[in-house]
Amino acid sequence: MNDYGEQIVPGFAYRFTGEQLVSERSPFQQIDIYENPSFGRLLMLDGLTQTTERDEFIYHEMLVHVPLVSLQDPRRVLIIGGGDGGTLRRVLEHPSVEHAVMVEIDQRVTELCREFMPSIAGDAFDDPRAEVLFTDGIAYVRDGGEPFDAILIDSSDPVGPGEGLFTVDFYRAAAGRLTAGGVLCAQSGSPGFQQDELHRTFSHASQAFPQVRVYVGFVPTYPGGMWSFTLAGSTLSLDPAVAAARASDRKLTARYWRPELQRGAFDVPQIVYDVIAPDGPPHTWGLSPAEHDRT
Ligand code: SAM
Repeated sequence: MNDYGEQIVPGFAYRFTGEQLVSERSPFQQIDIYENPSFGRLLMLDGLTQTTERDEFIYHEMLVHVPLVSLQDPRRVLIIGGGDGGTLRRVLEHPSVEHAVMVEIDQRVTELCREFMPSIAGDAFDDPRAEVLFTDGIAYVRDGGEPFDAILIDSSDPVGPGEGLFTVDFYRAAAGRLTAGGVLCAQSGSPGFQQDELHRTFSHASQAFPQVRVYVGFVPTYPGGMWSFTLAGSTLSLDPAVAAARASDRKLTARYWRPELQRGAFDVPQIVYDVIAPDGPPHTWGLSPAEHDRT
């Protein structure tokens, strides 16, 4: 029985137990997959929890349904990262989507997730609407090409290959790859323990998009449980009644997301406002190891 986990801030850590199934160093990062009695199989990259079989639905539904339901007719969607396939699966639940492009830098993440955690992607990788590219998402967005109605950043934290996905240049390049009225949505870390990450994501996105909003969801295996997402675009339409009609038209079945969250999830606690405030973040509970290394 292994004992493994994640140091959240000095003096506070998450511990898991269970059998180790995979331990592999890829050209980009350390990939570990474990068995866990409560959360099923669990993926860690560079020692940071990425996804588990039992709570992935919360993260993926909130990263995908909030932006896609805010759009009348999303047809082309770009996913940056998302190697486990959970984001791709939820994107393909929207029937108007004709083409979903997933750009993942590390092919081994996808191969190992398909082999050891197939329930997360389901049959999304075999869907004819899906196109999976193993290359750097920063270059893919920068180098231009057809526009997208939505760009979803399902990346690891801003360390290693993911660092460049949180910059003003990247958000500006992404804004240039959106159709009129298109939206970008990025996972932006823990409002409690990754306050630099959230502050930087919000301030950098605000330099590339006229409208930027932060919303939250609760992912039990992520540091602090509360997780933030940053939604950006020229106009953001977040009407629960419209969302309810669209969800019914699209026959969306969700276990966490519901139309009321199109407004409710954006009613964030004061601490989130303090984190994204120009004079933020308050570093309420110290710095995460990654943020500590950057100081
Ligand atoms: N849900 C997780 C989270 O919030 O931390 C993210 C899961 S997903 C597995 C993250 C993926 O982003 C990884 O597979 C990683 O290889 C990929 N990634 C990191 N940097 C990237 C880049 N520059 N281009 C494309 N994919 C990237």
